[in-house]
Amino acid sequence: MTPLDFDARHLWHPYTNVMDPGPMHLISSAEGVWLTREDGGKMIDAMASWWCAVHGHRHPAIIAAMQAQLDHLPHVMFGGLTHTPAIELGKRLTDMLPDGLDRIFYSDSGSVAIEVALKMAVQNQMAKGHSGRAEFATIRGGYHGDTWKAMSVCDPVNGMHGLFRGAMSIQHFLPRPSVALGQDWPEDLALNGLAALEELLDRQGDRIAALILEPVVQGAGGMYFYHPSWLKGARELCSAHGVLLIFDEIATGFGRTGQLFAMQHADVVPDILCVGKALTGGHITLAATIATEAVARGIGESEASVLMHGPTYMANPLACAAAIASLDQLKQRDWHHEVSAIAKQMEHELAPACDIPGVADVRVLGAIGVIEMESVVDPRIAHAQAPKTGVWLRPFARNIYCMPPFVISGDELSRVTAAMVNLARGEA
Ligand SMILES: *Cc1c(COP(=O)(O)O)cnc(C)c1O
Repeated sequence: MTPLDFDARHLWHPYTNVMDPGPMHLISSAEGVWLTREDGGKMIDAMASWWCAVHGHRHPAIIAAMQAQLDHLPHVMFGGLTHTPAIELGKRLTDMLPDGLDRIFYSDSGSVAIEVALKMAVQNQMAKGHSGRAEFATIRGGYHGDTWKAMSVCDPVNGMHGLFRGAMSIQHFLPRPSVALGQDWPEDLALNGLAALEELLDRQGDRIAALILEPVVQGAGGMYFYHPSWLKGARELCSAHGVLLIFDEIATGFGRTGQLFAMQHADVVPDILCVGKALTGGHITLAATIATEAVARGIGESEASVLMHGPTYMANPLACAAAIASLDQLKQRDWHHEVSAIAKQMEHELAPACDIPGVADVRVLGAIGVIEMESVVDPRIAHAQAPKTGVWLRPFARNIYCMPPFVISGDELSRVTAAMVNLARGEA
């Protein structure tokens, strides 16, 4: 049996048919933006390995930090014990985050960071004497991860979890913010979509612990960019109704949208923030849930006194060391310039796709480029073409998109945009 045969026979892949996985590539190494296959062929990782590898793969500074950490302390439990990587990473996060967000809970993946945020919200409400506030509000088109509670706040129809509808706790779904990024913002609540939130909070606010959403960019729920002013209005309404605001920046954090965090497009600070994905520059899994002092204090001074969560590998030192090196890279390099250059080039090179029949929309924000088709794109077509084009793309639903490492060169990016436009042409 060849290795690929074994894989096809025994290994599950994400959102892939286990009996018929389709084309699969065996990757033996990676460096910078390039993935190298076992057969020696190379492909540009236009997905930054699902939004993570912002500095490219195997960045020398991150690898060196991880190697040094391996020699001292790859792991130790975090209950009753602490370590310098967790502390140093905490300093960097509190330095780069807006004032107020400074109580950090580390976990091992984005979905878990969401679970933790939801628990924090409920425990904080209980601490305030609002034990009836155990439900959540969110907007349609969202994606917050694959674990059970995170799933319940993903889009109930188009999200990946419609299948489980009957087994999910019912949450409160608001329409997706209808005013797109770049459109004029109408102040009238009926026109800007905030009336629905106001009405929900007026009617059922006393049952709702928090509003959770991805600020400005909805990722896996449809690659939709909405107007930041919606968040300003939402912040005011939540505060007025005693509902906490949770931002999921797992996909958008660390420069991807052209701001360090997407919430900075709106200048709005949530009560709880989730980060993950690019936190370690795509080198190892790590996530964090960061709360305000008020949220933390409420829980700490409550009857329960502790947040009821504690992952075995919490604050894994190896992952923290990678994250420190990754955040230092962001600080040392002009990521802002890199991302705006990528945005400008993508706007120019993806524009011709507008004229292809079957293309519904073309949009760019920061280092995110999207060609939205009128019908669903089969990712297996892109997978099969990758060795020929030398570009690794994984479209989902109706979206052909890229999320390249910030270090991609102009020539490499041109190959990516050409592959996207060709794929759109082939699908049309
Ligand atoms: C990827 C993602 C998650 C889930 O993170 P995992 O590390 O896959 O568990 C949650 N929210 C958003 C916005 C994401 O993009």
